[in-house]
Amino acid sequence: MSHIVKIKSIKHLTHDILQIELNKPKGLQFHPGQAVDFAINEPGWEKEWRSFTFTSLPEDENIEFNIKTYPSHNGVTNRLLSKRIGDEILIGDVYGDIAYKGEGIFIAGGAGYTPFAAILKDLHQKGLLKNNKFIFANKTVADIALKNEFEQLLDKNFINVLSDEKVEGYEHGFVTAEIIKKQIEGHQYFYLCGPPPMMDAVGKQLASLGINDEHIVKEGF
Ligand SMILES: Cc1cc2nc3c(=O)[nH]c(=O)nc-3n(C[C@H](O)[C@H](O)[C@H](O)COP(=O)(O)OP(=O)(O)OC[C@H]3O[C@@H](n4cnc5c(N)ncnc54)[C@H](O)[C@@H]3O)c2cc1C
Repeated sequence: MSHIVKIKSIKHLTHDILQIELNKPKGLQFHPGQAVDFAINEPGWEKEWRSFTFTSLPEDENIEFNIKTYPSHNGVTNRLLSKRIGDEILIGDVYGDIAYKGEGIFIAGGAGYTPFAAILKDLHQKGLLKNNKFIFANKTVADIALKNEFEQLLDKNFINVLSDEKVEGYEHGFVTAEIIKKQIEGHQYFYLCGPPPMMDAVGKQLASLGINDEHIVKEGF
């Protein structure tokens, strides 16, 4: 079953990420970290279902998504760039493999931060954020979504890794075993989300540190 909802606000968070707020369908239930089937309610687009993750919390009045757009390609995310307040979106089934299991290190690449934005915000509200850490891989500083929000939530437990820019105070290159190892302080779980090539690469780094699959919670975007 799907619900028709309206855009309440739409703005750029970074040069290529849109933040879209919609009214919440009655009875919609999800847990932080979950995604939903999403389509544009417009002729020709209403069957083009894509997955996006709630960055809002279940108890919030509205639902919110952070969506990385691909303008070079005539897909759903490019079409969303022309959407305005009042335009309609279809919201379908809720699903997703990522849920909080216990204290750990969250590792995201690009738009893979969205489930962690919801989980970390939820942990903060419940006073359970404690020693959870977040390693965020991006190309440049300009690509870091919700930078101020993550800095406020996590302080020194927010570690940025930049592949295409050398900046003081930031790790440079890809997420290596060395970068992860520096952050481990008895952490039980490793949460991974991002594009499949990044997930494979980080998965190999975790394996080289002797971390077994039971302690890895992951989802490819
Ligand atoms: C469970 C889950 C949750 C997700 N949550 C989020 C989220 O919260 N936020 C988010 O931003 N993304 C999220 N994603 C990823 C998101 O679903 C995709 O980025 C989105 O479907 C892309 O839709 P599209 O129609 O624009 O591109 P599609 O047509 O679906 O293309 C998909 C990918 O192929 C590439 N591609 C295909 N053809 C071309 C072409 N001709 N030129 C250039 N590139 C091309 C694009 O880079 C794009 O990444 C999630 C994915 C999953 C599986």
